[in-house]
Amino acid sequence: MQKPNNRLAGQTCIVTGASSGIGEAVATAIGLDGANVVVNYNSHPEIAEEIAHKISINNLCGDAIAIQCDVSKEDQVQAMFKQTINHFGTVDICIPNAGLQKDATLHEMSLADWQLVIDVNLTGQFLCAREAIREFLRRGIRPEISKSIGKIIHMSSVHQIIPWAGHANYAASKGAIVMLMESICQEYAPQKVRCNSIAPGAIKTPINKPAWETPEALTELNKLIPYKRIGVPEDIGSAAAWLASDESEYINGTTIFVDGGMTCYPGFTTNG
Ligand code: NAD
Repeated sequence: MQKPNNRLAGQTCIVTGASSGIGEAVATAIGLDGANVVVNYNSHPEIAEEIAHKISINNLCGDAIAIQCDVSKEDQVQAMFKQTINHFGTVDICIPNAGLQKDATLHEMSLADWQLVIDVNLTGQFLCAREAIREFLRRGIRPEISKSIGKIIHMSSVHQIIPWAGHANYAASKGAIVMLMESICQEYAPQKVRCNSIAPGAIKTPINKPAWETPEALTELNKLIPYKRIGVPEDIGSAAAWLASDESEYINGTTIFVDGGMTCYPGFTTNG
């Protein structure tokens, strides 16, 4: 486990979809760095409560609570921010991470499966970012806490640039995150908002279990990864904690790819 660092002491962070996979690791890393953490979940409160409990035990400066909210619903996102501000006073860091896949070939994709992926992966990130910016502007900058007024870290994917047959809804949702994130940076950087994305490659979580659960599948997957190992959620957690801290202060409007080189097109290693 990462050592406590406390770069985020005095700050409060909401991580959506934090009751499994990448979100759990990000919430854990942010907590180890001293921030108060909101572990957002949509279902299974007992799992989220347990994660928040573990984070608060290891957090030397802050606390953690679990809050239910479906990120695709405006009223629920607003209620989550209200509850967070009532409990911790403000929000300094927002990490919209909740996401899902509903895979189908395009000619067989239902409108419902298209819409659900866009609603959660894209609209959910818009709603969270909007509430975060409203709170940053309301509160104003606190130079003793952070050089930025607030930080947003969108959880994107290598599929923001790599097309993905059979997953057009997912790839479209992540491609749109680029323009959302960069437009937010352009619009609010003058007020000292930092808005960036993390684009994970293949990370071992429930979302992509078929891609790593058998040795054969893992061998196939490793062909796409120059570094020759699947990522683990902690690879994303440590990147997120650093990106939320003032150590990365001058990074704004950027996507950090955490992918073992997947976006270096390993298929071209011996061809072309
Ligand atoms: P995961 O399935 O473990 O986590 C997704 C989380 O989002 C779950 O906890 C789920 O309950 C939550 N969620 C889904 N719909 C929700 C809603 N409406 N409201 C609130 N929460 C909701 O998978 P993961 O791999 O940890 O995915 C996290 C993020 O990382 C996603 O945005 C995903 O697209 C992205 N990502 C994952 C990988 C990977 O290889 N695992 C690669 C690139 C990007």
